[in-house]
Amino acid sequence: MFPQEVMDVIDTVLRHNAWRRGETINLIASENVMSPLAELLYVNDLAGRYAEGTVGQRYYQGTKYVDALEDSLSKRFARALGATFVDVRPISGTVANLATYFALAPEGGLVASLPVKFGGHISHNTVGGLKALRLRSVELPWDMDNFNIDVDAARKVIEEKRPNLVILGASLYLFPHPVKEIAEIAKTVGAYVLHDSAHVFGLIVGGVFPNPLKEGAHVTTTSTHKTFPGPQGGLIATVLGDEVNVQIQRAVFPTFTSNYHLHRYAATYVTLVEMEVFGGEYAAKVVENAKALAEALSAEEITPVAERQGFTKTHQVAVDVSRFGGGDKVAALLEEANVIVNKNALPWDKSVLKPSGIRIGVQEMTRFGMGRDEMREIARFIARVLRGEDPASVRRDVATFRKAYLEIKYGFKINREIVDKLFASLNLYT
Ligand SMILES: *Cc1c(COP(=O)(O)O)cnc(C)c1O
Repeated sequence: MFPQEVMDVIDTVLRHNAWRRGETINLIASENVMSPLAELLYVNDLAGRYAEGTVGQRYYQGTKYVDALEDSLSKRFARALGATFVDVRPISGTVANLATYFALAPEGGLVASLPVKFGGHISHNTVGGLKALRLRSVELPWDMDNFNIDVDAARKVIEEKRPNLVILGASLYLFPHPVKEIAEIAKTVGAYVLHDSAHVFGLIVGGVFPNPLKEGAHVTTTSTHKTFPGPQGGLIATVLGDEVNVQIQRAVFPTFTSNYHLHRYAATYVTLVEMEVFGGEYAAKVVENAKALAEALSAEEITPVAERQGFTKTHQVAVDVSRFGGGDKVAALLEEANVIVNKNALPWDKSVLKPSGIRIGVQEMTRFGMGRDEMREIARFIARVLRGEDPASVRRDVATFRKAYLEIKYGFKINREIVDKLFASLNLYT
């Protein structure tokens, strides 16, 4: 029917789908699945279109429908977050960050941020985004006992070094950062405060994690596909005035993007509506499940970090697996058992290249309908692998277990009628 190499590609996609959607327990903290309706709408003609510029001021013709989508998406996010300005054009969280740094920090400027081992994202550091812009960085100090930023030590650093921008928010993110406290200090030296909400955005929109814009951050950036279960994308939201907002807008285009992956707007919009309907329940369940998984692991004598603080207040759980051979080895072994996690550096690691931990996120399995009991099952699967059982035998049990959780909750379902209408509108088959 198709050339063999095309058949092979199709086969690879089908196998991947069946494996990741039907056989694995996916615990990657930065991933998620869209709702059926959002995923369906992701297939649309805008995948091949351009709309350079801003709503109403485009450099291309043919944009009347995408103008309406981009405008309503920005406004709905602004309302949800209490923001004065939202830019939904960044195609990812990293691009949202770069555009924000470019707009807010002067040439050769100084940024205070967390290194990767304290949870900072690569784009917060001079190995990543800061390097591209030739910005300098200074580390925000970490309090090992509280598993959070050390506010008093940070005050000294900020007052002494006077950064132009302070970045809060993280990729390993167990407890809300002290946005209020740091923002007060930052403002005394005239620094902007950016909270990178990539990981916790769904929890913020769901109302179970503090909204950084209400806590004193000037700006928040995010990905739209981690705990917020939309298509991959980014956005910038601010409580700043027009002058700075225009600088950010100009940084997004023409500096950092040209096409904005317009086909994601409809799916992102539907996801936001779904979050308004189901998001409170979903987000609360995610945090409850993370805590339940941490406690269940602890009962299996695989105690996660930050036990004294109650393990987590987000979707994440982090485990120091150095006594089981380290993050690399454990993550690979778990994959053999169809349990998908990532290795992760922990604050006390000497080198981020040899991470001692694994990071676990429960948001996706929560969307597939799992709760406390299922978290206990997952802890048992992990424990069996770590205690040396053959991963292949665990894998068979994981696949069987997973088969009972195939339906995506907390979103709108689809039917054949809407599928047919959409495909007919694209003339995909006649
Ligand atoms: C994932 C992540 C990003 C980057 O997001 P992308 O959409 O993958 O570019 C930025 N910041 C933090 C804190 C993240 O965890």
